[in-house]
Amino acid sequence: MAPTCIIIAGAGPVGVVSALALAQHGYAVTLLEADSVIDDNPRAATTHPSTLEMIARVGLVDQFIKEGLVARYFQFWDKPSRTKVVEFDHELLRDETPYPFVVQTEQHKLARMGIERLKSFAHVDVRFSTRVTGATQDTDGATVSANGPNGLEIHRGDWVIGADGGRSTVRKALEIEFEGFTWPENFLVLTTTEDFQQLLGGCCYRNYLADPDEWTNLFKVAGDDGKGRWRAVFPTKVEESDEQALGDESTYSRLQRVYPLNRKYNVVHRNLYKVHQRVAATFRKGRVILAGDSAHVNNSVGGLGLNSGIHDAMELVDTLHQIITKQADDSLLDRYSRRRRMSNIESVQEQTIANKKRLEERDPAARQAKFDELRAIAEDPKRHKEFLLRTSLIASMRKAQSMD
Ligand SMILES: Cc1cc2nc3c(=O)[nH]c(=O)nc-3n(C[C@H](O)[C@H](O)[C@H](O)COP(=O)(O)OP(=O)(O)OC[C@H]3O[C@@H](n4cnc5c(N)ncnc54)[C@H](O)[C@@H]3O)c2cc1C
Repeated sequence: MAPTCIIIAGAGPVGVVSALALAQHGYAVTLLEADSVIDDNPRAATTHPSTLEMIARVGLVDQFIKEGLVARYFQFWDKPSRTKVVEFDHELLRDETPYPFVVQTEQHKLARMGIERLKSFAHVDVRFSTRVTGATQDTDGATVSANGPNGLEIHRGDWVIGADGGRSTVRKALEIEFEGFTWPENFLVLTTTEDFQQLLGGCCYRNYLADPDEWTNLFKVAGDDGKGRWRAVFPTKVEESDEQALGDESTYSRLQRVYPLNRKYNVVHRNLYKVHQRVAATFRKGRVILAGDSAHVNNSVGGLGLNSGIHDAMELVDTLHQIITKQADDSLLDRYSRRRRMSNIESVQEQTIANKKRLEERDPAARQAKFDELRAIAEDPKRHKEFLLRTSLIASMRKAQSMD
């Protein structure tokens, strides 16, 4: 009998990790990617302990840690006075996880290492330059149409996973609402070779700089050459055009406001993102299921979007495996949808909106109160640990696992 076949739209990190976990169960997987290569634009890097546990389950964690940077701490700063407000230490999670730290590994590295591993599975077909254009289904299976290098392709499988990102064609084909809102400003991401740990003495690999005028999220990644890069994320002004935001004046002056250098910053990459807070009304319609950004998007403060997507991928593969091996009927996919939707709304959406508001707070008294609250949490070991359980998505993962 032919193995169960799952078609996945999108070879971002969520599609690739889903494909690998399914292949490891022995299922046939067809992975369709619109682009000709893995997208290596600077996006996610921060990978939390709960997600590291999942990356370990698919056998990639050692390489993932090796290609990134281990970040034990994260800090909040008052940007206008360049002073540290508070530091949080993942070491307090030592009894809760084998990975009491964050790993900063760029998301394209995870996708690439997953694609490499997929090459050893005979039942896996990875097709680049193949854009999914539609998805339909009947009682026996689901069908995906795609534009491949030689024109129209039709792929038929038992299940289809839409891991095709925030503008998901699969989600639109299913006519699923993407509920939420879009922030008026964009986020500007600047990558520089300057070393902020030296410039801003005392900062660590992950830093959140609060500023009523212009907050900054500052973190370090290894870079493809392993030499280290710093990424600085800024909100743009609503009235600023994309060209202005990406221009020299904007980029250099923004970095100078983080730390004034007596020369120009060496900027090696600039990119601009629209920022949404949206969650799909359901993550499942029949045999077609959504995971990752196709199901939910959020602002990047706190580094939770991809983490949540990997949590989807693993829960979805476990769910499909139970259905395929007849340990459960396909209504278990409704539980997948309920669990992952709840988890994203209550944890990821809630935290990322609060994180952004904390950084941009304008009212001096409210700003001070937010700093005081963070300090009080950090000083109390029990609250410090509870805070980390939440920021690292361990609490939401456990809550979701206990939900029917
Ligand atoms: C600046 C920034 C920083 C971020 N930092 C973090 C962080 O530190 N931690 C974190 O957890 N998250 C972070 N995120 C969020 C993270 O980048 C996303 O959540 C993540 O990319 C989602 O992965 P995905 O595989 O679901 O979607 P994507 O990465 O968007 O991948 C979707 C894939 O599908 C392909 N595709 C699209 N349409 C089709 C189609 N019709 N047919 C076939 N293929 C298609 C695309 O080409 C792409 O390869 C950040 C985001 C931004 C913008």
